[in-house]
Amino acid sequence: MERRRLIISGVAQGVGFRPFLYNLARKRRLTGWVRNNSAGVEVEVQGDAGNLAGFLNEVETQAPPAARIESVVSATIPVLQNEAGFKITPSEDGGVPGSPLPDQGICADCISEFYDPEDRRYRYPFNSCVRCGPRFTLIKETPFDRVRTAMAEYQLCQRCRAEYTDFSNRRFHAQTIACPQCGPALWLADPEGVKTPEPPDEGARRILKAGGILGVKGIGGYHLAVDASSESAVLKLREAKGRDRRAFAGLFRDLEALKAHCRVDAAEERLLLDPARPIVLLTQKEASNLAKAVNPGLKEVGAFLPYTGIQLLLFDQDLTALVMTSGNRSGEPLTVDDAAAIEILGPMVDGFLVHDRQVIWRCDDSVVRVQKGKTIGIRRSRGYVPAPLKMDRDLVPLLACGAQQKNTFALTKERYVYLSPHQGDLDRVAAYLSYRETIPRWQRLLRCNPEYAVHDLHPDYNSTLYARSSGLPLLGVQHHLAHLGSVIADRRIKGPVIGVILDGSGYGTDAKIWGGEFFAGAECNWERKGHLRYYPLPGGEAAIKEPWRMAAAYLEAVAPEFLAEWLAGNGLADQWPPLRQAIRHGINAPETSSMGRLFDAAAALAGNILEVSYEGEAAVWFEHQADLNHSGEYCFEVSDVGGKLLIDPGMIMEQTCRDLRRLSTGAISAKFHRTIAALIVRVCDLIRSEVGTDQVVLAGGVFQNRLLLDLAWERLERKGFRVFIPEVAPVNDGGIALGQAWLGSMMIERGITDVFGGAG
Ligand code: ZN
Ligand code: ZN
Ligand code: FE
Repeated sequence: MERRRLIISGVAQGVGFRPFLYNLARKRRLTGWVRNNSAGVEVEVQGDAGNLAGFLNEVETQAPPAARIESVVSATIPVLQNEAGFKITPSEDGGVPGSPLPDQGICADCISEFYDPEDRRYRYPFNSCVRCGPRFTLIKETPFDRVRTAMAEYQLCQRCRAEYTDFSNRRFHAQTIACPQCGPALWLADPEGVKTPEPPDEGARRILKAGGILGVKGIGGYHLAVDASSESAVLKLREAKGRDRRAFAGLFRDLEALKAHCRVDAAEERLLLDPARPIVLLTQKEASNLAKAVNPGLKEVGAFLPYTGIQLLLFDQDLTALVMTSGNRSGEPLTVDDAAAIEILGPMVDGFLVHDRQVIWRCDDSVVRVQKGKTIGIRRSRGYVPAPLKMDRDLVPLLACGAQQKNTFALTKERYVYLSPHQGDLDRVAAYLSYRETIPRWQRLLRCNPEYAVHDLHPDYNSTLYARSSGLPLLGVQHHLAHLGSVIADRRIKGPVIGVILDGSGYGTDAKIWGGEFFAGAECNWERKGHLRYYPLPGGEAAIKEPWRMAAAYLEAVAPEFLAEWLAGNGLADQWPPLRQAIRHGINAPETSSMGRLFDAAAALAGNILEVSYEGEAAVWFEHQADLNHSGEYCFEVSDVGGKLLIDPGMIMEQTCRDLRRLSTGAISAKFHRTIAALIVRVCDLIRSEVGTDQVVLAGGVFQNRLLLDLAWERLERKGFRVFIPEVAPVNDGGIALGQAWLGSMMIERGITDVFGGAG
């Protein structure tokens, strides 16, 4: 007889790990107990030596994969007399708990019950088990036990209790266990929020089939849904939300329905079916009959599969594809509160599908893409948060405030970085208010006590404002180094790297707007090796919404006659002179090295796109125009100016102008993309010959451009470079907080405030 005490650390809560141990112990006729504790899970087991050894082995080899065990520490302790059975005991409160688990999409077993008329959970929208269901979005406090979740108020019925306590049942110790008798209830409400007697699923489908807009309360907040095959319904949704031309995502009944519209390879299929159920950006099939208004002008569509029973209820034989978009006014945070939903969404919808379970955490759907078999994060939220990213060593406890657009923030504890759910664009007041309210809650949930606030260098970002108001000691980290740092942290890159950060905009250490940047260095020691030559950004931020301005800024320098002609042809002849004057006098025309703006300008020129409804729209359009059957690239020069490599985009724009008369937009786009890829390789080559590393990081919003990333990646690899792109952290500004945390922590530790050593 022997007794052992195990501390199993790093175990995610809510994946059925305790029930797994329980079953193991029963099988081996061991006595003892298990409970969640500060490190993860604490276990005491007692029995004969052979069974104990078998138990220990199986803990490590057969644990549920989502449990992510990090270490098992085991010690022999005195044997107890008269112990009977093996128990799951209540969690030990007070300690620092293992991290709560992200929401898990409804599993295959729960889906089959949902469709089984014989099952008592037939068509039950809240069906879940020990392996699936909401986790993060309904947790109030850790550890994850029902009493500390939004499920606390639902008393288990007898049958659920029997399942909960039966170790052979799939719902043994399932914290979110529920059934039609005892769990949350769902109903159909009118736009004023008044409950209607119609069966909720029938009513919901009636509204959708009639081309109406349905408000759907989910697990992370409200969605708005329409029939994705109805042009008028999708247009109505755009109108109601005040949504620009940005593409919507499609929710499909099942994989088969999805494949009728999208091409799916093996890696993409795995992601679609992953418990995180992200939106995956897929190539749309020619034969797809989705409404054009879903993704105007694009060949790509964001697609995902139902992750709750609520969503399964929306479909039937005829209704297999829905547009599913966040329930908000465009650009504002997702609505989570029922009263707010009636006020904000009521005027937009023809009815609501609602339930009485509280949403504790607002959580948008996540967005990913697969390229060369690798996942690239676009938005990391539901299904992924709050799982921490593990660094290779402890970090300083800090708050990383993130950037302005697509904000996420982060907290650190020991070697973990807890990246927050997507917060949206903080220049919107509602988003900033929600951000301010979420940070302290995030701190409480994860029991993090930051001692520093790390922020972007941009003095006017609301995240910077928040840092200043936090009362914590401050540290600024340059925007593009944060992009670079996020990939180093994400991919755990060792040694020196070359960083190619192509972006819309970020505040530079020279107070200019950076965005076409080449860095080299390691850890806290960086050099800005090269960048696009500075050009004025006419009218500042306004140039983002009017890409013609940037085209004019380049052409003014390299092709003034052509510019005059082009402006006249587009009715802009009067608008340019005052902007040109302003530039000459240095009024509201900051200098920029932005690659995002160069793409804008090329797209504006090639497609006469004068105005856009969101940042990057022109560039996205331009990418999708590319016709790779056309060969050729433009020339460019890399000049060494005082040890810095400068690339003049004017030269590329000038050649683009000349092509306008003789080549199609598709041909110009292909040439332009190839040129930028060639430029990346050339500059990396020059830097490599100096610093000797072949590790290249690609990051920044511009790399959401699939074609550019493909071309650059391929050419770099052909030249013997090792290419790193972010996997977990978003490639855009959603990844900034991770880089701030990683780089900021190291700077604080070493007492460094300037990673460029004063030579930025
Ligand atoms: Zn399940
Ligand atoms: Zn029940
Ligand atoms: Fe950025």
